Amino acid sequence: MRIFGAGKTEAKASMEAKASIEAKASVEAKTSGDEMVTVICNKCKKAMKVEDNIVKEGLFEVEYRFGYFSKKDSEVHSFDLCEDCYDSITKDFLIPPEVSETSEIL
Ligand SMILES: [Zn+2]
Repeated sequence: MRIFGAGKTEAKASMEAKASIEAKASVEAKTSGDEMVTVICNKCKKAMKVEDNIVKEGLFEVEYRFGYFSKKDSEVHSFDLCEDCYDSITKDFLIPPEVSETSEIL
């Protein structure tokens, strides 16, 4: 999940992030659209390192809109995972994710 804020230090933001989910949600709602302060892994609640609006470590971000034939038609589900949680989930796959290289610089 994304935490946004204006003029806050990264240290303060990660303290807030550890406080409670309710606090984080209200911070996000009030200040949405401002500078991204931190990204929290939805699985383990780890606060990822963000500098200048850029996440500086491995991040798996998902925003998925379920289709007509699902039970969640038109719902958009989004979450963020740190790289460790991504690895722990995908290692349980019986068929691993397909991996290809890209030359595009992110
Ligand atoms: Zn995690």
